Amino acid sequence: MSLDYDVIVIGTGAGALVSALRAHDAGARVGLFEKGDQVGGTSAWSGGMVWIPNNPHMAEAGIDDSADEAVTYIMAMSNGLIEEKLARQLVEAGPDMVTWLEQNTPTRFQLIESFPDYHPEETGGKTAGGRSLECPLYPFAELGEWAARVTRGPQLDGSTRMGESPLGNQPVFGIDPAELERRKERDERGSGQGLIGPLLRACLDRGIEPHVGHSAVELITENGAVRGAVFETSEGRKEVRSGAVILATGGFERDERFRQAFLRGPLERYASVPTNTGDGLRMAMRVGAALGNMREAWWVPMIDVDVPGRGTTAWMINPERTWPRTIMVNPQGRRFANEATEYNALGAAFHVMDATGYGYTNLPAWMIFDQEYLERYGIAVHRAGEPTPAWLIEAATISELADKIGVPAHQLAATIDRWNGFCAQGHDDDFNRGDSAHDRYWGDRRIGAGVESTLGPIDTAPYYAVQMRPGALGTKGGPRTDVNGQVEHVDGGPIDGLYATGNVVSSVMGGTYGGAGGTLAPAMVFGWLAGNHAAETALARLALTN
Ligand SMILES: Cc1cc2nc3c(=O)[nH]c(=O)nc-3n(C[C@H](O)[C@H](O)[C@H](O)COP(=O)(O)OP(=O)(O)OC[C@H]3O[C@@H](n4cnc5c(N)ncnc54)[C@H](O)[C@@H]3O)c2cc1C
Repeated sequence: MSLDYDVIVIGTGAGALVSALRAHDAGARVGLFEKGDQVGGTSAWSGGMVWIPNNPHMAEAGIDDSADEAVTYIMAMSNGLIEEKLARQLVEAGPDMVTWLEQNTPTRFQLIESFPDYHPEETGGKTAGGRSLECPLYPFAELGEWAARVTRGPQLDGSTRMGESPLGNQPVFGIDPAELERRKERDERGSGQGLIGPLLRACLDRGIEPHVGHSAVELITENGAVRGAVFETSEGRKEVRSGAVILATGGFERDERFRQAFLRGPLERYASVPTNTGDGLRMAMRVGAALGNMREAWWVPMIDVDVPGRGTTAWMINPERTWPRTIMVNPQGRRFANEATEYNALGAAFHVMDATGYGYTNLPAWMIFDQEYLERYGIAVHRAGEPTPAWLIEAATISELADKIGVPAHQLAATIDRWNGFCAQGHDDDFNRGDSAHDRYWGDRRIGAGVESTLGPIDTAPYYAVQMRPGALGTKGGPRTDVNGQVEHVDGGPIDGLYATGNVVSSVMGGTYGGAGGTLAPAMVFGWLAGNHAAETALARLALTN
């Protein structure tokens, strides 16, 4: 039977594009397919940071690292969920992928100065950074008509948000307006756009033009081997035959039944593209894929915000939690975690259960802050001086605030008194907020490099509360894959012709998040390995049959 392609890649996030590039350069004819009408997936909405331990730019900057150190670090956070051979493959292949992309495509990486790992005090962790890379600004004019076909996310306003702006690569507290204007005029984009832009350019240069509006619904199999996929398109169903298929269809966070079936606790909001409905998981299950890590997601706290022109929008709350003059409380009006810890780990705090009451101890959770906080930082799209929006609760006193959010007033007052005492003494005795280099980096470093960047009293009326929701960047359970990114069968051994990468797979990182870029890095590294292996095996098979 004649093949349409040697390798097809389903999805157009960063992992997908890297797979396509590598498969092409290994000699394969590559087809690239996307369900949405725009390309880039959540990867294009992201901060575009990539966590590559022992990367070549660290060496250039004289920062020490080694594969062994990085594997030790990852395994220290395993809790029995991480396979060491996959972790080792990630850290050993990562630097080679960076070099390969820089030598063969317009993609360039630079160090994000002093960005610590997310658990930097763990053995093998880096407190002074080096492992997190980002791409410089990319001029979208280079993409021609494709510039308008890269998806842009809801938090991309070019203002003050860490790594979430298409105009990107900005300090957390804003960017010179003249520089912003310059970037806008030239359509120079950073963050996830700065990553997807050059990868897409490299695909187009190789004649790999994404087929948008192609939703993969089924894998084509021959004697148990995967040999293509069926797509739903506006022109009807299309069968595409290929020697191998690489699934890069994102997580299952947008599918209610999968969420209910698999996740370890509530997931109420999603930061990903709406097309990530678990299609890859469904297709892989039908051909007998072994599954892993199904309970996990890349958790992140979110709030609901009314964004002018967009309506209610789920908004990630990351540096905002770490700045002084804010805490989080549970329905009892008590703090329940180090608010400044990394977002993924906070998922665990949201999922704590009360065995007696049989409910979630810390849900609903509330972020509490004062007027001084609002004046310094604002919150999401709201700034001090503007009328308080309906999604934000305001009260003249702590007691009134407690009544409005339904927590015991005496307890909320006691919690805030205790917090203010910790701020005065310079140490959070309950949750050690600010002890980690992570917390201090994410805090307001304009105030200082110590705990003052994150500890600050809540003492200036009026007071505010906003409900925090357990959200996710995407889920990270799915088909188990081997060191080549090949999907494993439930009965053991790889499934001939089937590969997967990104949030569709059982994550190499288990439940943890190594550092900024911890999701895109495995997607890209295993995409790079899968592209190569899929191409080589498909071409070798073809040579045998010809
Ligand atoms: C605001 C924000 C900031 C972030 N910052 C970072 C960061 O700096 N670093 C980091 O590592 N991570 C970051 N993340 C997380 C990261 O973006 C995701 O984990 C990552 O992009 C997932 O990649 P993926 O390829 O698995 O999925 P995606 O990039 O979402 O790609 C999946 C693609 O598959 C397509 N698809 C789905 N089903 C089908 C189908 N049936 N047929 C065809 N196509 C299909 C989807 O439409 C989509 O385009 C961030 C996320 C957000 C929202």
